[in-house]
Amino acid sequence: MGEAWRAAKLSPDELQKNFVEITPPLKPEEALVESNRCLFCYDAPCMHACPTHINIPSFIKKIATGNLKGSARVIMESNFLGATCSRVCPVDELCEGACVYEPFGKPIAIGRLQRYATDAMIANNWRLFEPGSPTGKRIACVGGGPASLSCAAELAKLGHKVTIFEKRELAGGLDTYGIVVFREPKEVSLKEVEMVRDLGVEVRTGVKVGEDVTPHDLLNNYDAIFLGVGLGRVLSLGIPGENLEGVYDALDFVEATRTQPIKEIEVGRRVAIIGAGNTAVDAATISKRLGAEQVLILYRRGQEEMTAYDFEYEFAKNEGIEYRFFTSPVRILGNHRVDAIECVRTQLGNPDPSGRRVSVPISGSEFTIPVDMVVRATGQHKYLQLLDNLGVKHDKGRVIIESETGRTSNSKIFAGGDCVLTPNAMAATVIAVEHGKIAARGIHQLLARAG
Ligand SMILES: Cc1cc2nc3c(=O)[nH]c(=O)nc-3n(C[C@H](O)[C@H](O)[C@H](O)COP(=O)(O)OP(=O)(O)OC[C@H]3O[C@@H](n4cnc5c(N)ncnc54)[C@H](O)[C@@H]3O)c2cc1C
Ligand code: SF4
Repeated sequence: MGEAWRAAKLSPDELQKNFVEITPPLKPEEALVESNRCLFCYDAPCMHACPTHINIPSFIKKIATGNLKGSARVIMESNFLGATCSRVCPVDELCEGACVYEPFGKPIAIGRLQRYATDAMIANNWRLFEPGSPTGKRIACVGGGPASLSCAAELAKLGHKVTIFEKRELAGGLDTYGIVVFREPKEVSLKEVEMVRDLGVEVRTGVKVGEDVTPHDLLNNYDAIFLGVGLGRVLSLGIPGENLEGVYDALDFVEATRTQPIKEIEVGRRVAIIGAGNTAVDAATISKRLGAEQVLILYRRGQEEMTAYDFEYEFAKNEGIEYRFFTSPVRILGNHRVDAIECVRTQLGNPDPSGRRVSVPISGSEFTIPVDMVVRATGQHKYLQLLDNLGVKHDKGRVIIESETGRTSNSKIFAGGDCVLTPNAMAATVIAVEHGKIAARGIHQLLARAG
């Protein structure tokens, strides 16, 4: 793509401004006022709504009394990725949505208070936990994303020797490569990786299990394995024209904003995003903030069926993103580069095996939208071969686990995070963290029994 193709000539300053964190940190006086608003409820609903069950009233009370280190410790005890989660958690759907103040329109700003305490932890380099007394047991974690980091941290606190194998150059998974930069800077995720290393966990990056290390090696050399491989690249649309210049994978597009200087990232004038989940919203808002003039989200079902959170939908609309529901792409048109996308109108049909109603094209309703960039955000590949080589049972690539322990069909292998989620389940860092904790407990029990 040449410079001439760049959508709008935003100045480097404007671009930089568009990509700073949207939510500012609380000032000390704001944190004090907000923490004192909390009712410190008995049997607090916010705590039940947190997938990692952080003792929210306790950490807020500690902020109110000036004990920031104690507050950070309470958070990190339940969620070793508490700094990332304070920024990226869908709090409206979780803790803040359950706060007793929510029906009055002003829930306690739990996420921002959590960030206040964890930012202090990072700024002061507090070391809050120590490795446990060595047990002599060795565990391999496959993948270096939130699920594995959480599992590894819990196991290290129990005295086990853990090695993480991560195929990318940096660990952190999607927290490092996939979260939009105006929600969380990469440095926070990398700091969490460092904190896991500080517990004695070996993090081996640039090592792909299945190529550089075989599943057989892991099964022979470790007492247990945790599988936290997440999901692969975005699925192709399977329509003509996908190879044209100007067609992107949403994950590559988001990743570019975290790994390259913003001013070097190119975007079209008129962008079509295919899909309407949270990743689609991220790709759309990035396009807009890079300077695209028109950004359309094309979705083959209706608003009711969208998987994006309500707050993401509202955010997208506020950013000027337009939605075209009941619209499915048929082919991408252009000569070398995308000029347009041909779509067909759709209607809802019968439910599929997961219970979602399928979209049915209405023949003869084809129409064309002029665009110069198309971004695919339509679900991700699964690692079928790796799962088969490890010999774990899966359902079309979704690893089947026992929910109380994270154990797979192989008693030595545990799993968690995105690779175990059912199609309509919530995919979030905080869920992966909880899965990692559950599996760590499952592994610890297994190793204790083995003696
Ligand atoms: C674009 C996008 C934006 C998101 N935004 C948010 C958000 O704002 N808030 C939120 O809570 N959640 C968000 N999520 C969801 C969240 O990032 C995931 O649910 C979470 O990262 C899952 O963690 P995981 O450890 O299971 O997988 P991942 O984070 O995907 O980590 C898996 C790791 O395994 C590695 N790996 C894979 N195969 C191998 C192998 N064979 N050998 C070695 N390593 C391997 C991968 O390189 C990767 O680093 C977002 C997801 C996407 C795609
Ligand atoms: S529900 Fe709201 S008020 Fe009650 S403890 Fe939680 S944050 Fe505080």
